[in-house]
Amino acid sequence: MRRPDLKQSLGRLLGPPEREIGCDECFEQLDRYVELELAGRDADALLPGFRPHLAGCPACREEHESLRALVGGQQAL
Ligand SMILES: [Zn+2]
Repeated sequence: MRRPDLKQSLGRLLGPPEREIGCDECFEQLDRYVELELAGRDADALLPGFRPHLAGCPACREEHESLRALVGGQQAL
């Protein structure tokens, strides 16, 4: 008998491979994350969970992009 749902159940038990922050935490730390990024620091190592959240959350990804453009534009002046 085939058990097509076995792998799915196992994945649920093991949980996600890495921590992912929520939208509240994302908005709270977004300016810091962008600053680190623009400073050439390893923002993903210093603020873990950001990248997977941005990858899965279009709202925060958009916010991140506009903030980065804003801060980056100010620095260029
Ligand atoms: Zn979000």
